[in-house]
Amino acid sequence: MNFDLIVDFFKGLKRQGPGSAECTKRALDLSGLADRSDPLKIADIGCGTGASTLVLAEELDAHITAVDLFDRFLDSLTDNAEKQGLNQKIDTLTCSMDSLPFSQSSLDAIWSEGAIYNMGFEKGIRYFKPFLKTGGILAVSEITWLSKDRPIEISRYWNKNYPEIALASEKISQLEDQGFRLKGYFPLPENCWRKQYYEPMLNQMDEFLARHQTSEAEEFIAAETEEIELYKKHHHFYSYGFYVAEKIE
Ligand code: SAH
Repeated sequence: MNFDLIVDFFKGLKRQGPGSAECTKRALDLSGLADRSDPLKIADIGCGTGASTLVLAEELDAHITAVDLFDRFLDSLTDNAEKQGLNQKIDTLTCSMDSLPFSQSSLDAIWSEGAIYNMGFEKGIRYFKPFLKTGGILAVSEITWLSKDRPIEISRYWNKNYPEIALASEKISQLEDQGFRLKGYFPLPENCWRKQYYEPMLNQMDEFLARHQTSEAEEFIAAETEEIELYKKHHHFYSYGFYVAEKIE
């Protein structure tokens, strides 16, 4: 897949995955991070243009390292942070989420919205854990089935695109098996997909196709459109689940 094309499509958007400021704040409430007294050290992994990073910076006494594979996303994040007067609290780091430079037990929290799938949930939580202090918070959103039974069309689609998709009970068990204590879980509501994510995408598709008159660009838009159509049809059966957990030891 042509990453330049994907980055070009998503860099002008406020978010690169489903979510909302309200849901970031809801997860923050579950985490209890605001009650911790010292300035916090946090990494936001796969932060994109910083939808969640900016909320964390606004809400917490914290220093946040915003990590993404693509510096063009991080450049937008830096611009936005400057506009909001939050740049003192944020550093950016262009780096893959599977080769992080943090010291062991150095972070109060690892935040990651709509991104851990790039490593896979189970591998990702196992890899992230040593960077957290004991009692540190892991807050991740991850694609999740909302019911045991679901139409074959949507089962096939997600099992092909992300075979690790599972019920929340399974994801929570994986967290518990890895030495985390669940502090809370909620599925992202529909507006996090439609209003916050898909609508802005749909609004810029024509202009994107006018700028990139290639079959690759057409295929990319066709794939995104298919995802959106399937969401409209089957949204009762899946969402991103937000998992907030604490490292026990
Ligand atoms: N957290 C943001 C972006 C989610 S989209 C939001 O909620 O809006 C997933 C993000 O993961 C993208 O920004 C993408 O560039 C980033 N990403 C993909 N593979 C990555 C990797 N291996 N390491 C770090 N970031 C990665």
